[in-house]
Amino acid sequence: MASPRIRLLPEALVNRIAAGEVIERPAAVVKELVENALDAGARRIAIAIEEGGIARIAVTDDGAGIAADDLPLAIARHATSKLGDEQLIRITTLGFRGEALPSIGAAGRLSLTSRPGNADHAMTIRVEGGRVFDPVPAAGPPGTEVVVRDLFFATPARRKFLKSARSEAEAAEAVARRLALAAPAVGFRFEVDGRVIFERAPEPLAARVGALFGAAAADNLLPLAAERGEMRLSGFAGAAHLTRANAALQHFIVNRRPVIDPVLRTALRIAYRDVIPAGRHPVAALILDLPADEVDVNVHPAKTELRFRDPAGVRALVIGALRATLATPAGTLSAARPPLPRFGHSRAGDAPSGASGLGTAAAESMAAMQFAEPTLALAAPPAARQIAAADPPAASAVRESAAVQAAIDYPLGAAVAQVLETYILALTGDGALVIVDQHAAHERLTQERLAREWAAGGVRAQPLLLPAVVELSAAEAERVLAEAAALAQLGLEIEAFGPQAILVRSLPAALGAPEPGPLLRDIADELADSGAQTSLAARLDAVLARLACHGSIRAGRRLQAAEMNALLRDMEATPRAATCSHGRPTFLRLCRADIERLFGRR
Ligand code: ADP
Ligand code: MG
Repeated sequence: MASPRIRLLPEALVNRIAAGEVIERPAAVVKELVENALDAGARRIAIAIEEGGIARIAVTDDGAGIAADDLPLAIARHATSKLGDEQLIRITTLGFRGEALPSIGAAGRLSLTSRPGNADHAMTIRVEGGRVFDPVPAAGPPGTEVVVRDLFFATPARRKFLKSARSEAEAAEAVARRLALAAPAVGFRFEVDGRVIFERAPEPLAARVGALFGAAAADNLLPLAAERGEMRLSGFAGAAHLTRANAALQHFIVNRRPVIDPVLRTALRIAYRDVIPAGRHPVAALILDLPADEVDVNVHPAKTELRFRDPAGVRALVIGALRATLATPAGTLSAARPPLPRFGHSRAGDAPSGASGLGTAAAESMAAMQFAEPTLALAAPPAARQIAAADPPAASAVRESAAVQAAIDYPLGAAVAQVLETYILALTGDGALVIVDQHAAHERLTQERLAREWAAGGVRAQPLLLPAVVELSAAEAERVLAEAAALAQLGLEIEAFGPQAILVRSLPAALGAPEPGPLLRDIADELADSGAQTSLAARLDAVLARLACHGSIRAGRRLQAAEMNALLRDMEATPRAATCSHGRPTFLRLCRADIERLFGRR
């Protein structure tokens, strides 16, 4: 049998094959065109799509433009102005592969109109299904406009895989938002079927993040700044009570490029692991800048994936910075209050009102956001307090008491009552009502105290007068004994006592007098959960959280006023005290407006 002959594929076919990788849907076209505009130094970029981008995508910029002679090259395969010879390891532009425009031109009808700043008119070049037309003179301002019509008309197989116009438009919007976040110094406008979805002038990063995350989230973002060697991390992390049902509000930007990266995503998850509830996702915009040769972006044609040369270093930087930021004590967030959660129902889907006019993605972001715990504002500034004084005084009857007067100006206020032997009721100087879950709050305080003691050389141990014998399964006993040395550092001294029992000689003093049995079984569980690979030191936070649970004021214990106030003052001084170690809120704050809203006065 004659062997088949090998031949080179025609250029048009090569472009169509590449199109499958580079532009799998309209959102990818938007991404490539906006990246080109950013690479061209644009200060303003307008994006308009119709019918999900399948009918039309137009991206207009005021960047450097393309010289008339270069137009045919711009739409030719592997032609780029961005990569010097042999330079693949130091990529500083968003594009570099020279395949976006030819791929788009192979799959749809592309028309590129460009005018460099020094030219007196523009030129237009067209490519339709791979067929190139000669450039013709055109009118137009300096900059570039690319219009793509009938995307995938030349590749009907691809077209079949597209989703509804609405979901394609949403995907395109998400891409535009990511790029807008990565380039706050550039103005962006995004339009769908003639309707402006978002429009932002050049602005500082904080303003851009705030606008794109929605007003409610914006008030609960903590700024980040950290360095490690030549790497710099900046951006914003959502406060622990601000979580979502999915990861859609997690943005990672590396060297100005929005990316999808497992290293960063995992670091984010780990940093938040024990301050938010299981199954919820934090909100964050992490911006990492590092030398171009520390990262390989040429992993996939879409350039949204990358490889770090030092993933462990990146991870350490991100986790360290986030943990430090999240360790903000309760009561010091200078944030405005989010909308009040509806009682008995604060899960995802509980849309706060006022999301209109923000565009679909933002509205959905807000709808899916959960406010487990309204944030506490700093004690009112003097001006605000004067206004409050002119108003009817907050809780005038109890204000007379000396104990209340002494405490009322603290951020969490003065304890005035205990409810159901579980919740502390406090009043603040500006008339807000604070409700504290005494067990949740105390648990976090104990955990942080254990952590402080451990960091200072070891948790103080309270020897038991009579060592306690705790029966465990053989596997559990083996697991805790394997960590006996580390547990001793936590104030928990244990010894083997037959195959199915453990002798407990001391317990962490900060816990008071917990039951040794349940405590030890919990620790055995924790050691099993977190796997045998990592050291106890690496899982310290989780182990301390388990310990703290055993030493905390139970719900159902009656507290004296002095104890309650002490707890409030402790919360104000303790890192991460706004949520317990399970991520639940430790307190709620109802300000005057919240109370008025509950009574329908607003
Ligand atoms: P790449 O971005 O990888 O270089 P593209 O196919 O996306 O490849 O673009 C090819 C070339 O066309 C770019 O290198 C650039 O010189 C030019 N170009 C494309 N879009 C623009 C634009 N909006 N403004 C100025 N030049 C552009
Ligand atoms: Mg490009």
